[in-house]
Amino acid sequence: MKFKLAITFCLLLSNIPNGSTEENINKDKMAHLSNQIFDELVAIRNDIHNHPELAGKEKRTSKIVEDYLLGLGLEVKTGIGGHGVVGILNGSKKGKKMAWRADMDAALHVFDNKLNHKPQVAHICGHDVHTAIGLGIANVLSKCKDDIIGTMYFIFQPAEESFEGAKAMIEDGLFEEIQPDEVFGLHVFPTEIGTVSSKPNELFAYQRRIKLTFDNTIDQEAFSGFFQEILEGFIRHNTNSEPWSLDYLTDPLEGLSNPNTIYDDYFILGSNVSTRFEKDKTSFECTYYETDSTRLNSMTRRISDLVIDSEFGKSYINTSFTAERPTVINDPKLTDESLSILKKLYGDENVNHFYGQMPYSNEDFIYYQNEVPGVMFLLGASNKEKGIYALPHTSEFKVDEEVIKIGVNYFSTFLVEKINNNKS
Ligand SMILES: [Zn+2]
Repeated sequence: MKFKLAITFCLLLSNIPNGSTEENINKDKMAHLSNQIFDELVAIRNDIHNHPELAGKEKRTSKIVEDYLLGLGLEVKTGIGGHGVVGILNGSKKGKKMAWRADMDAALHVFDNKLNHKPQVAHICGHDVHTAIGLGIANVLSKCKDDIIGTMYFIFQPAEESFEGAKAMIEDGLFEEIQPDEVFGLHVFPTEIGTVSSKPNELFAYQRRIKLTFDNTIDQEAFSGFFQEILEGFIRHNTNSEPWSLDYLTDPLEGLSNPNTIYDDYFILGSNVSTRFEKDKTSFECTYYETDSTRLNSMTRRISDLVIDSEFGKSYINTSFTAERPTVINDPKLTDESLSILKKLYGDENVNHFYGQMPYSNEDFIYYQNEVPGVMFLLGASNKEKGIYALPHTSEFKVDEEVIKIGVNYFSTFLVEKINNNKS
C-alpha cells in the first residue's frame, strides 16, 4: 500500500511543468523519496549493526536484503559467491545497464576501551550503512522505474573485509547473471557529512604484507632488527612530520583534496616486523603501503637481495606475501564524468576531487573494476559539531546517520541522471 502511494507521488511530480528543469524535478523527487524512507532505513541499519556478521557468515544480513528487495518487486538472485544477493530493476525501456554495489560484512576489532581486550565482531567499517544506503537506492529507484531507461542491478556483497567476496561472486558467475556497462559503489569516509569525493585511477595505496622465511638457524632477534631497518630504508614521503593521521587526511593544504597533497607519493610501514614460528621454520612479516605500482616488484627483489647478501643469507628460504592487495582503480573518464554530474546536482562545494591515495585502507571493489569500468565514491559521514569524526576500523568509529539519507538521495539522483543520459 505504501509502495503504491509512493509510485503515484513519483508520477505526479514527473508531470510538474512550471518552468522547472527536468533535473530539478528529479532532484526534488529523489530528496522527498529519500526522506520518506529514512526512518525505515535507520531501523534496518541499526538491526544489522546490532547483529554483526563476519566475512562469509552474512546469513542473517543477506536474508534481510533479499526480503527487502523482494518487497520492492525486484527480481532477486541469492547465494552468489556465498551470501551474495543481486536485485534487478528493469526500467520503462531497454537502455544502459548499471550496477550499484554495497558490502554487508562486519569485522573483528579489539576495542581499547574494554578491559578484557578480546576481539569483537562489530560494524567498525560502516558496511551496515552501505547496505542500508544500497537498499534505499533500490527503494527510491523502484518507485521511479517508469522514469528509468535501462536496467539497474544492486549487488550486495559478502566478505569484503577478507577481500574474498567480490572475487567469489564473480567466480560464481555474477557477470553471467548480470551484464552491467558500469559499476558504482561507495565507502563512508571521515570527511564532513554532505560531501562526496573520488579521484581517477588509484584511490588507495597498494597494500602488501611481506613474509621472509628462514630455517631455524636464524638469529631471530638480530634478523628482526635488520629486516626492520631494511624496510625503514625504503620509507619515502613528502613531509618531515608524522602525517598519517585523520587531521592530515582532511587538511585543506596537505590532505587528499589538495593537488599538492602529501598523499600522492609515499612508502610507509603499516606495522612493525613480527616473528612467527612454524615447525622447522621461522618467518618474519611486515605490512607496508606504496602508492606507485611500478615500484612494488623491484622493491621485493631488492629486499630479497639485501637479505641473501647479508649474514642471514645462509638461513634464507624464500620471500612471499601473506597479503598482496590491489587497490581500487577508478576508470578515469567515468570518474570525471561522474564527479561532473554530482557537481552539477549538488554543487562544487559538496564534491571533492581527491588527488592523493588514502593509506591504511583498501577495498576489494577492484575485482568488479577489472571486469567493467567502475567508480568508487567516498561519502562524508563525519559531523564535527556532533563530535563524530573517526576513521573506519578504529574504536571511535561512528557515522552521522543522516549519511544514509544523503547517500540515498545523492546516488539515486546520480544513477537516474547517468542511466538516462547514456541511452544505448
Ligand atoms: Zn570497509
